[in-house]
Amino acid sequence: MNNRRPGFPARLDQAVASPGARSATSAPLAVASTRPAAAKPLRPSAGDRPPSLAMPTGLGMDSAAVRQRMVQKLAAQGVQSPAVLAAMGAVERHRFVDSALVNQAYEDTSLPIGLGQTISKPNVVARMLELLTQAPIAQSAGGLSRVLEIGTGCGYQAAVLSQLAREVYSIERLRGLHEKARDNLRPLRLANLHLLLGDGMLGFEKGAPYAGIVAAAGGEAVPEAWCQQLAMGGRLVAPTVMADGKQALVVIDKTLHGLQQTVLEAVHFVPLKSGIA
Ligand code: SAH
Repeated sequence: MNNRRPGFPARLDQAVASPGARSATSAPLAVASTRPAAAKPLRPSAGDRPPSLAMPTGLGMDSAAVRQRMVQKLAAQGVQSPAVLAAMGAVERHRFVDSALVNQAYEDTSLPIGLGQTISKPNVVARMLELLTQAPIAQSAGGLSRVLEIGTGCGYQAAVLSQLAREVYSIERLRGLHEKARDNLRPLRLANLHLLLGDGMLGFEKGAPYAGIVAAAGGEAVPEAWCQQLAMGGRLVAPTVMADGKQALVVIDKTLHGLQQTVLEAVHFVPLKSGIA
C-alpha cells in the first residue's frame, strides 16, 4: 500500500505495512488478561429463557464443539493471543444472529444483523481485539482497563470485549440495534459492559481516557474526539477510508512523542455515520 493517510490527524508518524501483513507493529503479543480467561461459555443464566427456546435449531445439543473448531481455525489463521482465543471461545455467537442464520454463526463470514448492518467475520473481530490487547498501556498494566467500542450492532463484539477489558463502553447510533443488543446481552449479565445510544463519532467523554478504542464502522477519517479520549499508551483500532477510496485497518498509538499511526490490511466495514437514527 502506498503512503496514504486519512485526513485526520495531520501530525501522525506513519508506519505503513503491506496489505495482509498480520502486524506491522513491533509490540509483542498480548499479555494475559487481568481477568482469567473464561473457561465456560457465556450462557444466559438458568431461568432467563426456557432451555428449549435457548437451544438454536441446527446446532445440535451443544455449540461448544463447533465454536472450538472456529477458535482452532482462528489460531491457524494467525490469532495468537490466548486471552483473545479464550474470549472468542466463550461467547456464543449464534445467540447474536437471526435464527435463520444460526447454522452460519461459526463460519468465517460476516452476517446481516438488520437495518442494513453486518456482524463482522470472527477472524476480523479476533484480529482487531488482538491488536487492541497489544496496546502498550495494556501490556504494562497486565490487561485492558477501560475500552470504548463504536458500533455496538448486535452486541457480539461487545460481549467478547467484556472478557478482555475491565470496563467496556459500547455506543450505537441506531436505536433499533441498540435495543437489539440490549436484548441479546441481557441474559449474559455482563456487569462490566455499558451500552450507550449516541453518535460514536463524538466518542464518549464520560468514560475517557480509554486504554483502547475500537470502531466497527469505517469513516473517511479518524474523528479527533477518539484520539483525544485515548489514554497515554492507549491504542485505537479503526477501519478508515484511504486516499484510494478503499478501507484499511488503521492502528493509532498515543505515545509521549505524539500519535503514531500504522496502516494494516484492507478491510470492508459498514460506513461510520453521524447522528442518531
Ligand atoms: N460490533 C458489531 C458490528 C456492528 S456493524 C457487532 O458485533 O455486531 C457497525 C455498527 O456501527 C452498525 O450497527 C452501525 O449502525 C454503527 N455505527 C455507524 N456509525 C456509528 C456512529 N457514528 N456511532 C455509533 N455507531 C455507529
